[in-house]
Amino acid sequence: MDFAKDYRMTIDGEAVPAGATFDVVNPATGEVFAQAPAATSADLDRAVAAAAAAQKSWRAVPLEERKALLIKAAEAIEAHADELGELFMREQGRPLAMAREEVKGGAGWLRATAKLDIPVEVTEDSKRRRVEVHHEPLGVVCAIVPWNFPFLLATWKIGPALMTGNTVVLKPSPFTPLTTLKLGEILLDVFPKGVLNVITGGDELGPLMTSHPGFQKISFTGSTATGRRVMESAAKDLKRITLELGGNDAAIVLPDVDVDEVAMQLFMGAFWNTAQICVATKRLYIHEDIYDALRDKLHQIAQTIPVGDGATEGSVIGPVQNGPQFRRVQELIEDSRKNGYAVLEGGAVPNSGYFIPLTLVDNPPDDSRVVVEEAFGPILPLLRFSTIDEAIERANNSEYGLAGAVWSKDIEKATEVAHRLETGTVWINQNLQSTPFTPLAGHKQSGFGVENGLHGLMEFTVPKAIFIPKTA
Ligand code: NAD
Repeated sequence: MDFAKDYRMTIDGEAVPAGATFDVVNPATGEVFAQAPAATSADLDRAVAAAAAAQKSWRAVPLEERKALLIKAAEAIEAHADELGELFMREQGRPLAMAREEVKGGAGWLRATAKLDIPVEVTEDSKRRRVEVHHEPLGVVCAIVPWNFPFLLATWKIGPALMTGNTVVLKPSPFTPLTTLKLGEILLDVFPKGVLNVITGGDELGPLMTSHPGFQKISFTGSTATGRRVMESAAKDLKRITLELGGNDAAIVLPDVDVDEVAMQLFMGAFWNTAQICVATKRLYIHEDIYDALRDKLHQIAQTIPVGDGATEGSVIGPVQNGPQFRRVQELIEDSRKNGYAVLEGGAVPNSGYFIPLTLVDNPPDDSRVVVEEAFGPILPLLRFSTIDEAIERANNSEYGLAGAVWSKDIEKATEVAHRLETGTVWINQNLQSTPFTPLAGHKQSGFGVENGLHGLMEFTVPKAIFIPKTA
């Protein structure tokens, strides 16, 4: 594959060449390495019209056939996993093996989604009548995805939307458009024309999409700030929305853990994918009895873990994905230094692109920016606590409520803590886990609606009750 050129949008069953284009940067070098097509509003109109036309027949395709096509899509992705993984690494920055894992994970997600079923509920079955509740497709789905998991999160939307009989216009982030464009091209041979459309563009394209009257549903993953704008835009014609938004996840470490055993897992729960994960640990509450020992261990890991270009053998952590995010994390480090917090810097990083040393902040105040804001990059505040009640209260003191974690040898006690955390997911002695069968639902300002599992599937449907008399 020539990584520099030849990217096309997928509209109405055709690979559409670019008119205007925009730059795509390799975050490990900071250099432009490719051009992506910039959709015009006419391209958007065409994609929406194609999706609307296709939806009429797609919804009538039997469910088992739609599921079979999802599996065929998974096979097509797997057949291209190596080249897609390499392209992913170049545009997103993640080390190659892990980039390929995301591509394969996306295929696996489509397969798993095909195992779900659309239930028909019977709310009454009496002598007089039978009342059935069916779940019907909504129509054309606007799917908008961020840059941190560009491939996997696209499949989280495509799978359930298509399986339930909707058609899709998918837009990746302008920072990571390429793998998604290739996905569209690969799936041209799988789905009927117009069922899956992929368009790319700059900052103006998202708002054009969310205000487009041709969509019946918006499935959005991104920041809370953008989520608010999406909700406002959707209000005009009452589009259905699912918003998977930001998080500032707390992990609480109780004093009975084995520090050496848990340190690496805790570290990776915060820094994997260069800490650019909605459900990464972003505030680490450590009991005072083990605080110093765990802090020192985490600092040692930060100084030794290989950070580098994803193309370099042995790199475990890559660069920050883009310029604005790079500057934002630098600003938080600066703010911590300026306020006199103890900043514990990680090991050396390449002097190119968007690399930042993996940084810990030693017990900053609860109202510091690094604690209150979602950093979404390699800076993690460590926070000392004395009692469990205090830790839970501080963890819950956030406008976000995406996920959280509890670490302890006492599973019963950890489970009690889990029940008291105000988040949509809680992990005990693990982190970053999600499955296609488990709902991911942000509490508070982390989300609106649900993705994944049966709950997530239902978000692409509308219930229809049919009252059927037993006698004519
Ligand atoms: P972002 O909100 O800047 O952008 C997300 C997507 O929205 C991009 O495709 C962007 O082009 C588009 N967009 C931008 N402005 C828009 C507008 N006004 N209307 C419609 N679309 C618009 O987010 P980001 O920086 O790409 O991603 C990072 C954020 O995503 C973090 O806050 C992270 O926590 C969150 N996230 C959440 C989840 C989850 O499942 N809850 C998963 C991954 C990332």
